[in-house]
Amino acid sequence: MSVPDPVQASAQAVRSRRARAEVKQAIASGDRAPLEVCETAWGDASSPEASLLTTELLGSLRGFGPLRTEQALEELGISRRRRLRGLGVHQRDRLRHWLRDRPGTDRPNLVVLAGPTAVGKGTVAQFIRDRYPQIKHAVSATTRSIRPGEVDGVHYRFVSDAEFDRMVDDGEFLEWATVHNAFRYGTPKSSVDEQLSRGNSVLLEIDLQGARSVREAMPEALTIFLAPPSWDELVRRLVGRGTESEEERARRLRTAEVELASQHEFDHVVVNHDVAEAAHRVVELLHGGVS
Ligand code: 5GP
Repeated sequence: MSVPDPVQASAQAVRSRRARAEVKQAIASGDRAPLEVCETAWGDASSPEASLLTTELLGSLRGFGPLRTEQALEELGISRRRRLRGLGVHQRDRLRHWLRDRPGTDRPNLVVLAGPTAVGKGTVAQFIRDRYPQIKHAVSATTRSIRPGEVDGVHYRFVSDAEFDRMVDDGEFLEWATVHNAFRYGTPKSSVDEQLSRGNSVLLEIDLQGARSVREAMPEALTIFLAPPSWDELVRRLVGRGTESEEERARRLRTAEVELASQHEFDHVVVNHDVAEAAHRVVELLHGGVS
């Protein structure tokens, strides 16, 4: 039988305390949703999340001092020394609902970002992806072919026409549309549902038709229209990127006119003067107007 090594045991204790401190810090800074931390803990009993005390989780929430933490524990019927992995099924359920329903910033939300061609939707979405890892992105399926630098399964799932037809027939899409008269794009329901149920917010960067379909299917979704500072600026951005032919540009600008006229349908309009500023505003709106 091996004798426990006290030096090793204390080094292990220091490591796990540090890992727990990192999780608490990530919750406090808003980098991780507390509900997602719980789901991680319950999915893997040996994770640092699993060894977090429920008191520590609650105490990391914005505005939660010792008194509010104590009150919440009492309301949830959870004792002070209980670690997340030690919670029973009913306690887990109560904590899940409590985190989901409490007022403030924690309600997982579906955010739709739409806007005309060349307005910078993709760049703003990429900025959010890089800076706000707590906001997840659904990977769309598309029938267009892969471009240099794109990765299948990361930027899109690149599928054949037949596979797209099958996905439509099997009801796998939350929405889908033919974009720019060319290829089909669709948001798989499963990727959105999985993230929302883990407590994460999801951002969809889709076209106007897609935004309308999502609003019908999920009226609680937050819709944001990304607008250019002016019409001239939109034309300048489209010409500047130089990826479309003259004819294609003219067609996209006609579509853009129609799309710009639809901005009143959205919950919010964000003007894209500056990518970082616009991205920050989108995240602020997602958190109910404050970040
Ligand atoms: P691109 O081919 O340049 O990546 O995207 C072209 C257009 O397709 C963009 O306007 C983008 O917002 C839109 N798009 C990308 N994914 C989806 C999707 O899943 N559904 C819909 N409706 N549009 C999408």
